[in-house]
Amino acid sequence: MDQFRYVSHAQEVIFAPGALARLRDVVNRVGWKRLLLCTSRSMKKNGNVERVQSILGESLAVVFDSVRPHVQDVQVEEAFALTRLHDADAVIGLGGGSPLGMAKAVGLLSALPILAIPTTYAGSEMTAVYGVTHTQENPPRKVTTSDPKIAPKLVIYDPELTLDLPPELTASTGINALAHCIEALYSVTRHPLSAAAALRGIQHINNALLGCYQDGGNLEVRTEMLIGAHLAGLSLASVSMGLHHGLCHVLGGTANVQHGIANSIILPHAIRFNADATAPQLLPAIEVMGISANGSRPVTAVELLAQKISELIGSMNLPQRLRDAGVDLKESDLPRLAEIAFQNRTVQNNPKPITEPVQIETLLKHAW
Ligand code: NAD
Repeated sequence: MDQFRYVSHAQEVIFAPGALARLRDVVNRVGWKRLLLCTSRSMKKNGNVERVQSILGESLAVVFDSVRPHVQDVQVEEAFALTRLHDADAVIGLGGGSPLGMAKAVGLLSALPILAIPTTYAGSEMTAVYGVTHTQENPPRKVTTSDPKIAPKLVIYDPELTLDLPPELTASTGINALAHCIEALYSVTRHPLSAAAALRGIQHINNALLGCYQDGGNLEVRTEMLIGAHLAGLSLASVSMGLHHGLCHVLGGTANVQHGIANSIILPHAIRFNADATAPQLLPAIEVMGISANGSRPVTAVELLAQKISELIGSMNLPQRLRDAGVDLKESDLPRLAEIAFQNRTVQNNPKPITEPVQIETLLKHAW
């Protein structure tokens, strides 16, 4: 790592239990007066939309509360039309990676600034990237766009908003955060800051994720986990990801596998696939996860890491085989998915070169 280049974004990050209450002051300070809120149905159900409405009062011009997973292109058009109709001057994304992705898609089309309030551990709030699913294509395809303009200007992290994140989503989006850190550690564009953030992120996630799964109402572990997710998002934001992330995007966009579930199924396999090329970068992670690998060969130590992560995933009752992903996917679909993934730019940034789709197909078969 004696040469590096990275882009960081000018973002204001506010992290505190109860931070949502500061929303009005923050919005007044930056002078936004007519906001569009992009969010999902669960935020309406759990009362968060109502809370934002009562905090912002008339500054909240309009609410789009039906963002579907993986951001559908038709919904982007709908939400963009609302910014015009209501003359919005900023966009809020409240919820998981999907509403945050929607806020970014609308922000780019309308050239409006974005405020992100995450309620899962997916990490999108820190990045200048979003994915939209092109629903008219057969099969549908998720296309990612990257533009510094869509990095949220303001990020409000309130661990209290994660207290009701159900156990399965806690687990799966937490593994997504862990995957950001792992792929950041061995990224081909890694740099000293991304490596430090990723390693510290792994430490917090390792300390807190299982506790959040077992006792979601515990604010202390929720707070530590959200710090881990923030560091994961920070590391994700400034490096390119690899095979794991590219493949999860394809599984989401094309086969509709929930993003966190795809992460849980693929992560141990991606670590094993990359082991011989990435062991030196993963050794610090092995140490912070408390794995005793004394005297083991590096590749063996990485296998212990894959096993430990696999055990964590299993102990949170997440699916560990693609056949159990809860979607209409057949084993005979795997070669086609491997072909699509092979074309994926993120997959092509993998630290271990991927020269033929059959390499991905073999991984998918192991994961099946
Ligand atoms: P999601 O946003 O699709 O949310 C999953 C489910 O969780 C939804 O039903 C939502 O309503 C519910 N939910 C969210 N917060 C909740 C809470 N506090 N309580 C109860 N229910 C809650 O899923 P996600 O895993 O957060 O995000 C995945 C999406 O984000 C994918 O499309 C992925 O590609 C994208 N993503 C993008 C980036 C990026 O940098 N652009 C990073 C990570 C993920």
